[in-house]
Amino acid sequence: MGLSSMVTSALGEAGLRFEADVPLGKRTYWRVGGPADALVFAGDLGELCAVQRIAAAHGVPLFPLGAASNLLVSDAGVRGIVVVLDRELADVALEQGDIAAGAGTRLTVLLARAKKHGWTGLEWAAGIPGTVGGAVRMNAGSVLGECKDTLVDVVVAVGGEARTLTPSDLNMSYRTTHLPDGAVVAIARFRPTGADAVASDARVTEFLAKRKATQPLDLPSCGSTFRNPPGDAAGRLIEASGLKGFAIGGAEVSTKHANFVVNVGGATATDIRRVIEHVEDTVFATHGVHLEREVIYAGAWDGWVRGR
Ligand SMILES: Cc1cc2nc3c(=O)[nH]c(=O)nc-3n(C[C@H](O)[C@H](O)[C@H](O)COP(=O)(O)OP(=O)(O)OC[C@H]3O[C@@H](n4cnc5c(N)ncnc54)[C@H](O)[C@@H]3O)c2cc1C
Repeated sequence: MGLSSMVTSALGEAGLRFEADVPLGKRTYWRVGGPADALVFAGDLGELCAVQRIAAAHGVPLFPLGAASNLLVSDAGVRGIVVVLDRELADVALEQGDIAAGAGTRLTVLLARAKKHGWTGLEWAAGIPGTVGGAVRMNAGSVLGECKDTLVDVVVAVGGEARTLTPSDLNMSYRTTHLPDGAVVAIARFRPTGADAVASDARVTEFLAKRKATQPLDLPSCGSTFRNPPGDAAGRLIEASGLKGFAIGGAEVSTKHANFVVNVGGATATDIRRVIEHVEDTVFATHGVHLEREVIYAGAWDGWVRGR
């Protein structure tokens, strides 16, 4: 394991900042997951394209990491390069009336900036702990809307080159975005709606209070584990299957909101995946519904056997 010296030399020669063998557990919202072979930091589009070219030239997999608020990273960790966006790619500016946000920007930072300047149209991001890039990738959202609603376009790096894509190129729908293979979002541009900023702020405040009352926000989780099936709620199906409180090791189906799997202390990624698969199997057995996962399995899961 680990990157070859040829790859680390290439990263060094390109002037890229990187760290080898980095534990990811402290970075993930579930607080689980093994090490990344290397974390490489890309501060602008040029650096991001350079990382992609080096990874491709050496046949090394490259994984873009946001805030890890929708990821179950395996206990074995992630082979290859994990790329993290910072500096220019984690900054926000107003460009010709549109909000240009680096994909590494936390949504909380984006919202705080929007509130300060009275920009509206980003209410969908309220309460979501991810980054702009993760939000584009997931078409993140809530009852207040979704990422695609005010997205104008994105700049992505793909194959070591920059490209601009519109939401229709990305065919975005409920928690789904079709990025080209290997594309990493670098910048997303949003158009303010011009709606009343005070009214928008009031909606967000009310929404966040409701969330706090109904979701287990005091425990590590990745939010909703499953997408809601058409016309139903995953949480309702899981609760009706008698699974609230079901636990393996430190992973538990939340007693407060059944669509959350929480780390009540000392959970491993293996515990969490076993709970998720038990929920899938039980809901199918009791309701005949195949729940579709919203959280993403990342890293090395070689040899995983379901139901063991
Ligand atoms: C308490 C809590 C509440 C939540 N509530 C909501 C909610 O209301 N609505 C909702 O939609 N989600 C919610 N989530 C889930 C999560 O925050 C979102 O899915 C978010 O968009 C993930 O962003 P991230 O930066 O954490 O991405 P990560 O979890 O780091 O990554 C998710 C996927 O995006 C990819 N990715 C990340 N950055 C990039 C990039 N720059 N370019 C290309 N791909 C990239 C990753 O490779 C991975 O495949 C919640 C999570 C938590 C913990």
